[in-house]
Amino acid sequence: MAESLATRRGTLGVPTFMPDATRAGVRTVTSEDLRGVGIGAVVVNTFHLLRRPGIKLIQQHGGIHRFMDWDGPILSDSGGFQVWSLIRQDPAHGVIRANEVIFREPTTGEKWTLTPERVVQLQFQMGSDVVVCLDDPTAADDPDDEQERSVERTVSWARRSREEYERLGGQLKADQAPPLIFAVVQGGALERLRRECATALAAMSFDGFGFGGWPLDADGSLLSEPLGWVADSLPAEVPKHALGIGRPDHVVTAHALGYSIFDCALPTRDARHGRLYAFRPGAAAAAPKPGDRFYEAIRIMDPPYRADQAPVEDGCDCPVCARYSRAYLHHLFKVGDVSAERLATLHNLRFYARLMEVLRA
Ligand SMILES: [Zn+2]
Repeated sequence: MAESLATRRGTLGVPTFMPDATRAGVRTVTSEDLRGVGIGAVVVNTFHLLRRPGIKLIQQHGGIHRFMDWDGPILSDSGGFQVWSLIRQDPAHGVIRANEVIFREPTTGEKWTLTPERVVQLQFQMGSDVVVCLDDPTAADDPDDEQERSVERTVSWARRSREEYERLGGQLKADQAPPLIFAVVQGGALERLRRECATALAAMSFDGFGFGGWPLDADGSLLSEPLGWVADSLPAEVPKHALGIGRPDHVVTAHALGYSIFDCALPTRDARHGRLYAFRPGAAAAAPKPGDRFYEAIRIMDPPYRADQAPVEDGCDCPVCARYSRAYLHHLFKVGDVSAERLATLHNLRFYARLMEVLRA
């Protein structure tokens, strides 16, 4: 397994969890807050930033790092997954073709065209440290012919992305280090396709690989077998990114299969809904194994916490647990104080950072 992720803005110990700063911000917290809870890198979304505020505006600010005041590594997701999800919800949103993706804004009708080349250009323009190729996602239960087509496109788009990356890298000044480039593996839950896609992409020697598509089956279970096939078909030492994964127990399973980079909106979204993660007593002392029940999710607005003077988690070293009780957080949520979401977010991000620390040790 990869032991670190070396980017032009520093080397990250792995496994590493990168919160989703989809629109150039992790909701309710600042870059300084992220540092304070042990976050080393963040993920932004190229497609969403293209829509708003526009990549040109970010460029005018001197790049994405200065725009959002984050000087650590930034991985920019292509946005292929988000466009696919929106078009899947409502085909009127656009169309995915062999050579391009077209998206129409539901309210204004404004049209965006994404090609593999354009998506790499946009990531260079914003100054991302890890560029991700445009891919054509699927869900595990999509028909076989769609999975075939998705792999065909994903491999062809990765080749075009790689060529554009080489071209743009050649234009950098001598003292400018190039970003890394990751490709994304598709193939749904079909072993032959997952392996073929991984092998074809590995032959193009990318710096890292993502496990693509919707990562859960129809019952909400993690696609553990496909995750294993993909990891097994890729070079052992190259970093593998479990895109959008996920729940703490899913992270532990994917890590055991060889994945070392994680990003997910779950800890921050759950925090804003008063759902807080905590290690079970003693469970933070050693690395959890797949299947271990090492954590619980506390619904802080539930009645038992109304007068609970304990911190969210005994033994948590986050700035919230050091100062406040469950009862105080319960109260802030109940009265609708906006700081409730911020405090909960800080705790949950620290929980994920601590999970990475125990898995690393
Ligand atoms: Zn805490």
